[in-house]
Amino acid sequence: MPLELVTIPCLSDNYAYLVHDSESGRTAVVDVPEAAPILAALQDRHWQLSDIWITHHHGDHIDGIPELRAATGAMVVGAAADAHRLPPLDLALPEEGALTFGRHAVETFPVPGHTVGHIAYHIPDAHLAFTGDSLMSAGCGRLFEGTPAQMWASLSRLAALHPDTLVCSGHEYTASNIRFALTLEPANPALISRSQRVAAAREQGRPTVPVTLSEELATNPFLRASLAELKSAVGLPTATDAEVFAEIRARKDRF
Ligand code: ZN
Ligand code: FE
Repeated sequence: MPLELVTIPCLSDNYAYLVHDSESGRTAVVDVPEAAPILAALQDRHWQLSDIWITHHHGDHIDGIPELRAATGAMVVGAAADAHRLPPLDLALPEEGALTFGRHAVETFPVPGHTVGHIAYHIPDAHLAFTGDSLMSAGCGRLFEGTPAQMWASLSRLAALHPDTLVCSGHEYTASNIRFALTLEPANPALISRSQRVAAAREQGRPTVPVTLSEELATNPFLRASLAELKSAVGLPTATDAEVFAEIRARKDRF
């Protein structure tokens, strides 16, 4: 049986995700901006929460954990390296982590940049990746703690996953990310078409996530910093990929 995925809007523009394995009965939530919408989604489906997976320490990703853990007894999982600024962990992950989720293997790995302790969760056989505020829909997280080179390395690792991977990220920022992307690649046909689909989804109040990695590779300028078109677009035709990424990130910060 394939895993079931539920996208749950939280707060003003955050997303939490439920992953359910009907074979084992396990249900994980990735990030907990607030408990109430997650408890409601579990109740609607008669699912029992077994796992709480944390991507990074920001309040809009962890503030609902105490209430959710008290209500469900689910196991809290996060990066050992960030344990000092996360809620108490039942499972503290090493730098390259591995979990089992029913019969499914889950890999975790560092994706520093937005924060230094940020991690991603990848379920290879289900083609699911939970990227929090590292790789985001048509964008990437702001560099609050890490360097551009660190974030470029993180995005490059995510970019190498299977192109069918569904990228599940933490916020509804796609429309503004696409407006920015169009300033760099106004003639990119994949970007133009995505911009139309995103506008339609937002008009109907639908989430624009998750999105396939292949669509991200075709449209997300932060994944495209190694391409000659992008290097020329920012006036740095001979710069390194990480330098071009840094310039694109700096422009987005001012956008
Ligand atoms: Zn964050
Ligand atoms: Fe966030």
